[in-house]
Amino acid sequence: MSRSSRPNADLIIHNAAQVWSFGTRVAGSGLPDVIEAGALAVADGAVIWVGPESALATEICAAPDAVWLDAAQGLVTPGFIDCHTHLVFAGTRAEEIAARCAGESYLSISAKGGGINATVRATRATSEDALVELALPRLSRLLGFGVTMAEVKSGYGLSTESELKMLRAIQRLGARQPIETIATLMCAHAIPPEFSSARERYLDLCVSEIVPEAARLGFVRFCDAFVEQGAFEVEEARRVLERAAALGMRPRLHAEQMTSRGAIDLALDLGAATVDHLEALQPTDIPRLAASDVTSVLLPLSTLFLDDPRRAPGRALWDAGARVALATNLNPGTAMSENAALALGLAARFNGLRAEEALEAFTLGAARALGLEDRVGALCPGFQADLVVHAAPSLAHLVWHLGISHVRQVVKRGRLVLDRRDVPRCS
Ligand SMILES: [Zn+2]
Repeated sequence: MSRSSRPNADLIIHNAAQVWSFGTRVAGSGLPDVIEAGALAVADGAVIWVGPESALATEICAAPDAVWLDAAQGLVTPGFIDCHTHLVFAGTRAEEIAARCAGESYLSISAKGGGINATVRATRATSEDALVELALPRLSRLLGFGVTMAEVKSGYGLSTESELKMLRAIQRLGARQPIETIATLMCAHAIPPEFSSARERYLDLCVSEIVPEAARLGFVRFCDAFVEQGAFEVEEARRVLERAAALGMRPRLHAEQMTSRGAIDLALDLGAATVDHLEALQPTDIPRLAASDVTSVLLPLSTLFLDDPRRAPGRALWDAGARVALATNLNPGTAMSENAALALGLAARFNGLRAEEALEAFTLGAARALGLEDRVGALCPGFQADLVVHAAPSLAHLVWHLGISHVRQVVKRGRLVLDRRDVPRCS
């Protein structure tokens, strides 16, 4: 496309040390994955041109009122896509940390009314409006770490009324702040206390009422189930996920976290979008995942939060050719952290990804997990202009400087939504 046939740019990002486009992953882009001394132009919320700054003047016409954003020799990357969070909830679990440090087991904490049941009680007792207000600061912190899209799960309601309340709150949050939200139904998160001796009846409620009502909302893209000792067995999860798939929601699975119990067979059987966690993944399942379209989602903040000595095999999955994504798993019980920078650094240390792989897993890999890879996750012409300017000279710095955000600017759909020109540069 020539200069004259492109629309006038309304936002131009210049003076970048590198622009990470992931162009080789996008059919027809003709771009390399990274452009040194790069620049990028945006019109009407979409990327219209990426290339070396030396070509900017001959390739792009700027609108008279265009915004010129100086990247100050930093990095420009796609916005992070957090494809696994539970950030809508009420109540606190802060006191559990002290109990755990004192040696009390999770089971003992749960028996006293703590654990997930504490979050379920508090979430049920909180209005939809109040759930929205409670989640806004969490999204604001994620934005500060460069997140521009977040998947959010229900799963602390565990009744028709409360699950729908959570889903509506998730949808409303997308209109209240810059991060786009993607809703996932997770009624199969835990057996609610009132059904503890009647689990079949809870599953009946899921398939006959909660799943169909969630589908009727029209915006719920996924249905997730927790296959684990103390949560749901494979055949129980199958019932819920098959019903959801029949109603247009794509299955996802919390799989192989504490124990290995056949969740990968179920995911492959159902053509699930993702399997998430994988600390207990069997080595024989790695080639099976690699041969499928199922994305393996790494959640290293949970590994750290739970002080789990096992590691999800990110390196082996990547080398086998599996689809790999990275997410925070922000939730009150096992990863109370919005720190996307720490997740990126831990993906290198715990899961063996190189810096450029960790970045891809947190952008384009996550977009693939959500089925949105033709719109977000890369910086190529036609893609949504969701991007971050980092005050760091290379990707290696983002992984090296552990848990520190170097986010200088965040652009969402071509609009500057965070501007911290005073952030110190990493060097
Ligand atoms: Zn989770």
